[in-house]
Amino acid sequence: MTHETFVNLKPDGRAFIDGERRWAMDSARFDNISPVDGRLLCEVARCQARDIDLAVGSGRRAFEDKRWRGLAPAERKRVLVRFSELIVTHGEELACLETLDMGKPIRYARSVDVASAANCIRWYGEAIDKVYDEIAPTPDHALALITREPMGVIGVIVPWNYPMIMAAWKIAPALACGNSVVLKPSEKSPLTALRLAELALQAGVPAGVFNVVPGYGAEAGSPLALHMDVDGIGFTGSTKIGKQIHVMAGQSNLKRAWTELGGKSPFIVMDDCPDIERAVQAAVGSLFFNQGESCNAPSRLLVHQRIKDQFIERALQLVPQYQPADPLHPDTVMGALVDKTQLDTVLGYIQKGQQEGAQLLCGGQAALVKPGGFYVQPTIFDGVTSSMTIAREEIFGPVLSVMGFSDAHEAVRLANDHVYGLQASVWSSNLNTAHGMARALRAGTVHVNQYDEDDITVPFGGYKQSGVGRDKSLHAFDKYTELKTTWIRIDSPV
Ligand code: NAD
Repeated sequence: MTHETFVNLKPDGRAFIDGERRWAMDSARFDNISPVDGRLLCEVARCQARDIDLAVGSGRRAFEDKRWRGLAPAERKRVLVRFSELIVTHGEELACLETLDMGKPIRYARSVDVASAANCIRWYGEAIDKVYDEIAPTPDHALALITREPMGVIGVIVPWNYPMIMAAWKIAPALACGNSVVLKPSEKSPLTALRLAELALQAGVPAGVFNVVPGYGAEAGSPLALHMDVDGIGFTGSTKIGKQIHVMAGQSNLKRAWTELGGKSPFIVMDDCPDIERAVQAAVGSLFFNQGESCNAPSRLLVHQRIKDQFIERALQLVPQYQPADPLHPDTVMGALVDKTQLDTVLGYIQKGQQEGAQLLCGGQAALVKPGGFYVQPTIFDGVTSSMTIAREEIFGPVLSVMGFSDAHEAVRLANDHVYGLQASVWSSNLNTAHGMARALRAGTVHVNQYDEDDITVPFGGYKQSGVGRDKSLHAFDKYTELKTTWIRIDSPV
């Protein structure tokens, strides 16, 4: 089928439970509106506690009868690699769904979202028959085996900014280890998750092992986080809800809770920056990527006073490249914000920035791209101080706040003066400065003289209130397995 066919296809918004599409038990639904042009894409099942029970029960049965975890790791690998291949085969359909559902440019839905989700599932599939357990260095009369075991039923709750990738980062390691999964996608972007579940079944993931329950946070997310028969929860979303997830885990069965939360990442440019052009391109390109709706967007730009004017002048020259346009057009680099609420939130922050005395250099308005859609101009503020709301809160839109500083101490102090600690970047041609500052920055990932390197082999997650635990890399297996010690007495005759 062609791109046009997929764009006009009516998506299926029913839940996916026990290997089947179905509406919520009480038939409740909600409208899925595209942020591209306000069109009604489909109705989506509005799952609630009873539907969550059904999905968790299905996952539990699959876990107990070992239809998935009982397979040899090499067999689970074969199925997950097939799953990844099906994602690639259905790439155009998934990319169209992602763009229509949350507004991102189709070129990135194809080259980033589909490609990364497929790669992630393949990588964990291929890894699972290559990880070994341990034997402890104990005395001769005993043998201590340290083994990892799948936990059981894993609840996964994800946000709307990278729906497929955020889901893949959790379902891939969880499934590879042999768990069952109940995934609750964001109510703002549930469509690709539902298709992924169908493709997983087609690839050979047995019915019941991977369930998807769309719905609202309070109605579907909370019952999952509070469920007494869910063994672990992998959450990506805001810090506000992340904190509630830990409370719900504690209030119920003390399920393991892992959270990947908000960010307000500092991007520090020293006056000996080795390549100002590359630094400007990286700062502006990374911030405006995905309409600024990225947890790791470098939304606090800290530039040494000596080069700040030059840096800003070049940044402003680049801004026209990032004007929003039709997300379905192959050349578009900035698409629509996910919905009207997000548009109003972003415009509210821009207004607040002006009221609190920041200097608006460009943008600041909603953009008219397509009637019914939600677009905002790329926006840059100078003269931002760390007490201003636009420096303190995550805006999750294309708004860059520029601050000046005069030495490395001040830069690190400003950068670390925040509740978040997801990522940071430092640009300097002095090895001592760059490495010393990288050590001092309180962030899960620090980039030196670049910002966009990314690979499934490296952990992703934050310090402080940016969350607990890490996605990606082999470290993610720790989140979805229990460690067991088995002592064996050895009465050796020799
Ligand atoms: P959100 O916290 O509002 O929602 C995230 C998910 O939680 C959604 O599925 C939502 O339905 C669900 N939810 C909402 N209320 C709930 C409740 N009471 N109980 C259980 N579930 C509930 O976040 P969002 O607006 O969807 O996403 C944006 C946030 O995600 C930003 O803060 C961003 O930084 C963060 N994020 C973090 C990472 C990371 O890896 N650190 C990656 C992507 C996004």
